[in-house]
Amino acid sequence: MRPALVLSLLVLALSCQSPSQPTPVPATEPAQYSVPAEVEPYVAIFRDMARQRNMAIQADNLIITFGKTTEVGACGQCLLETGKTPRITLSTDPTCWKQVSTNERECLVLHELGHCLLKRPHLTTRFPTGMYASLMNPDDIGVYATCIYPLDTDVCDKRPRRNYYIDELFNPTTPVPVWSNQ
Ligand SMILES: [Zn+2]
Repeated sequence: MRPALVLSLLVLALSCQSPSQPTPVPATEPAQYSVPAEVEPYVAIFRDMARQRNMAIQADNLIITFGKTTEVGACGQCLLETGKTPRITLSTDPTCWKQVSTNERECLVLHELGHCLLKRPHLTTRFPTGMYASLMNPDDIGVYATCIYPLDTDVCDKRPRRNYYIDELFNPTTPVPVWSNQ
């Protein structure tokens, strides 16, 4: 009798286990990294900036390609899909990359990484001068670049503003800079 009792207890114990059917999980792509050599220095700047701020950001799962953006006139776009590697497309239009300054290229790449890695949406807030308050603005990739001709009352060489815009990229609560109303 005793062996049978042990067996029945064992069966009872096994039957109490949770079902062994695999639970459905969303299809997940393995982490992959593919960035054109001429874009890599700007992604490296992003990684360094994140590290300096002790932010844990998965920057090794990323695909950047040059190609055609689906939105007319857009120099870049970020495609984020659940379980898939974030994908950035940079427009092959010469006015988006080839013909622009390194500052504008940096602004563009950091903006798209802001979407794809920091999950930030566009921000249209402006300072009293009319300048956008964020690198995550929808249409100006030159917020800390230099201009060829000053088109308005704003300064032409905006490079000293870089620190603020990068601070704000990683921390939207960054205090308003002194030049915001000058
Ligand atoms: Zn954008």
